[in-house]
Amino acid sequence: MKPVPAQFDPVEAMARARHEFGEHGGVNLSIEASTTFTVMHAEVMPEIFQGRRGPDSGGCYLYGRHFNPTVYALGHQLAAMEGAEAGYCTSSGMGAIAAALLQLCGHGDHIVASDTIYGGTYALLNDYLREKSGIVTDFVDISDLAAVERACGNGTRVLYAEGIANPTLKVADIPRLAEIAHRHDAMLVIDNTFSPLILSPLQLGADVVVHSLTKFISGASDIVAGAVLGRTAFIQQLMDLHTGSLMLLGPTMDPHQAFELSLRLPHLALRVAEHSRRAKVFAERMAAQGVPVIYPGLHTHPGHALLSQMAHTDYGCGGVLCIDLETRARADDFMELLQNRYRFGYMAVSLGYFDTLMSCSGASTSSELSAEARDRAGISPGLVRLSIGITGGLEQRWAQLDAALSDVGLIVRST
Ligand code: PLP
Repeated sequence: MKPVPAQFDPVEAMARARHEFGEHGGVNLSIEASTTFTVMHAEVMPEIFQGRRGPDSGGCYLYGRHFNPTVYALGHQLAAMEGAEAGYCTSSGMGAIAAALLQLCGHGDHIVASDTIYGGTYALLNDYLREKSGIVTDFVDISDLAAVERACGNGTRVLYAEGIANPTLKVADIPRLAEIAHRHDAMLVIDNTFSPLILSPLQLGADVVVHSLTKFISGASDIVAGAVLGRTAFIQQLMDLHTGSLMLLGPTMDPHQAFELSLRLPHLALRVAEHSRRAKVFAERMAAQGVPVIYPGLHTHPGHALLSQMAHTDYGCGGVLCIDLETRARADDFMELLQNRYRFGYMAVSLGYFDTLMSCSGASTSSELSAEARDRAGISPGLVRLSIGITGGLEQRWAQLDAALSDVGLIVRST
C-alpha cells in the first residue's frame, strides 16, 4: 500500500495556492469575461498556435475556449487540492470525463472500468464510445483485483473507477489499481466526485483525476461544471490546438462559473466534514437498529478498512449513504414520506447539495445500466441513495428520518 504522503494535506495545499488577486488587488479573483486576448507583439501569435507559448510562457490566454484567466486560476486551485501538477475546468463533469478518455484512447483501444460507476459514464463507455469510436470497455468488479488483472490486456489504455462509487459506495483500492494499470502501460483515471478532500487519488498512484464540480464542490446545486487534473503534459495535450479534446470538442467553462466556484473552495473542507459527520451519525444509528444501510464509514462496510488507510480522516467518509428497501415501491413510499410528510429532503438526483437529496438509483442515475448489470453491481431495485444535507439541526433531521424509517417498518418501536 502506497500511503498518502504525510506532508500532503489538500486543504493546506489549496490555501498555499490561493495567491491570485483581483485586477485591482481585490481579495477575490476578477471575472475575466473576455473571449479573446491581445498579444503585444504580432510574432507571438503564430507561436501560440504552434503550442510553443502558453499563458505562463510569454504567450497569452488566446481565446476563451483555449484558456481564460479566471478558469485558469480555478484550475490551479483544484490542481493544488489534488496535488496535481496541473488542471483545467470544463462545463460539466461529463465534459471532463469524455475529454480525458478521448485524449487517452483512440479508435479500437480498450478500457477496463469498474462495474459500479455513474450511469452517464457507464452509457458513455458502454454505448457511446463503443458505437462512435470503436473504443471498447470491459466492466469488472474492481474489488476483485485478479479479475481486473485478467481484464487488462493488449490495447488497454485506461483503467477507470470512482474513488467511492456511485451509488453502491464501493471503495477503489487506488494504489493496487495503479500498479495493475501501470504494469499494462495503461493510465488509472479516478473520478473523485464523491470524495473531494477525502481521497487524493494522484497521491495514491492514479494518473488522472476527474471531477463533477456540480456536486460537493459547488455545494448549492446551482452550477454544472467539471475538472480534469493530472500531469502538465497531459493537460497541455487536452488544450492542444490540433489534437486537444478540450480545445476541439469545446466543453468550456464560463469564467463567471469559475469565479462562483472559486468562492466555495475555501469552505469545502467545513462542508465535507459536516456532510460526513451527519451521514456517519445517521448510518450508525440506523445500523444499530438493523436498518440495511450502506456507508463506508461503518466498520461493517467491506471498503471501510481500505478507505481508512487511504483517506484524509479529517473529512470523514463522505456525505452519501444508501438504504436498501429491496423493492421500487417501498423505495418510492419511503422517499415520498421523507419529502412530503417529514420535510427531510428532496426527491431529486444529484448530490453534495446543502440539503438532503434522495433518489432510487435503479430508476434514475443508474438506469443506463441493464437490469443484469445493476444486479451484478449490487444495485437493488429498492436502493435509495441519500446525499445527506447540512441544514437544520442534526437531531431535528434524525427525528424526521427515524419517523419515516418507522413508517415503512425498517425501525420497529418497542412498546
Ligand atoms: N461522476 C459522477 C460520480 C457523478 O455522479 C456524475 C453525475 O451525477 C458525473 C460524474 C457527471 O457530472 P455532471 O453532471 O457534472 O456532468
